[in-house]
Amino acid sequence: MTIRMGLDQLTNLDNRSTFLKTLNEKITYSSKHKIKSALLLIDIDHFQRVNAHYGYEVGDKILFKFAELLKSVERKQDHLARIGDNTFALLLMGIMNTGHAELAARKILRLLEVPFSYLDHQIRLECSISISIFPTHALDAKHLLIEAESVLHETKTHSNNIGIAKDQGEEELSDFWDIEMAMSQALEFNEFSVYYQPKIDINHNRVSGAEALLRWKHQTRGFVSPNVFIPIAEQSGMIKPITSWVINTSLRQASKWSDRWGPQSISVNIPPEFLLMPDFFDMVSNSLKLWESDNVCLTLEIIERSFVSQVSRTIEALEKLKNIGVKISIDDFGTGYSSLSYFEKLPVDEIKIDQSFISNLLLSKPSKNIVRLIKDLGKAFDLQVVAEGVEDAMVLKYLHKIECDVIQGYFYSKPLPNEEYLKWLEKAKLPEI
Ligand code: C2E
Ligand code: CA
Repeated sequence: MTIRMGLDQLTNLDNRSTFLKTLNEKITYSSKHKIKSALLLIDIDHFQRVNAHYGYEVGDKILFKFAELLKSVERKQDHLARIGDNTFALLLMGIMNTGHAELAARKILRLLEVPFSYLDHQIRLECSISISIFPTHALDAKHLLIEAESVLHETKTHSNNIGIAKDQGEEELSDFWDIEMAMSQALEFNEFSVYYQPKIDINHNRVSGAEALLRWKHQTRGFVSPNVFIPIAEQSGMIKPITSWVINTSLRQASKWSDRWGPQSISVNIPPEFLLMPDFFDMVSNSLKLWESDNVCLTLEIIERSFVSQVSRTIEALEKLKNIGVKISIDDFGTGYSSLSYFEKLPVDEIKIDQSFISNLLLSKPSKNIVRLIKDLGKAFDLQVVAEGVEDAMVLKYLHKIECDVIQGYFYSKPLPNEEYLKWLEKAKLPEI
């Protein structure tokens, strides 16, 4: 038997620490793609009695069978793990509402009505299940788990089978307003900053530019993830002054770098609907004029979904930006539904392969094939192909082998504040691939 790190050896499911990492990634994904997801904690009641009565060997076999039963409820997009001695976690991705999660919990209880049989023992288990929903009950993975754990505790204390985190309708709303209110003052209070993550041209083993990533350090909450506040900024309209601030700040800082390091290329994320906004072009061109950035090339990263509607107007807007020297990158490529028929017509310069394919690259053959396909597609249209989210050398080697052009990811560096990014540039010795 091979033992894989991060797995629970008894059930072959992810263990707690691996699950926490996955939960973080999946909630980040849910936030980015506006997906509702549910976390179920399933805790077997009085399991110590099974161990005490039948012995640990039987106890282990029953736990294994219990895990198998939970696997029958897990769908392809979900994630199951054993996070405690007799506690399991099931993350349901993409649910419609709380009722949907409750149905899954009821299904588990129904399946448990049939006793487990082992040797000549018939063992009936009962369990308590708690549910917390993203984004209804928490806006990040950590708080989602805290909610579910506290509800589980209450559920067990009151001998209920299913407990659902309290519907915080009003609280949730007030959290939204709190964040929105605080964000409206954040520019004034200097709470925003731009971090930079290098992009490495692996054919020439040199830094080819950086992506500007917004950070917000709230006075009391500390750092708030952009996956939390950007959607709120988009909904409230605050995103406009914020984007203008990010463009100006990164152009200003990059033009300073160019004094020391020569021409720079800086990529800024743009919300999808901006392309068709009448005053967006002026916002960009005024910033370029303001910083007289001859030595700085600005790239706008726009997610793939934005290119799906109003094709001719989109192309027109892109052409106009390209005429003033702006480059266009399609972000998260592979997750939208680009049609090849107009992909050909889009005046873009770069595609960024979505992180989800890169992080699964060495684990899944389909991801490997998708990455290669996207790379071939990019090359066929003469585009620069960027892989983001590269964390280890093996993945990098593969991407080099299939001739990806540019790499971005923790392998080289996390996003860094301006000063640290400069120090990184000063010291950076890029390893041979
Ligand atoms: P994105 O555009 O897909 O940005 C890449 C995200 O991946 C960044 O998260 C970055 O820190 C993270 N990342 C980079 N390399 C790795 C890696 O090797 N492993 C892993 N696990 N993650 C990596 P971040 O900074 O938290 O930003 C999240 C998202 O928030 C961005 O996703 C972007 O959609 C949005 N965002 C950030 N800054 C801005 C901004 O100024 N304007 C707008 N409109 N959106 C922004
Ligand atoms: Ca991006």
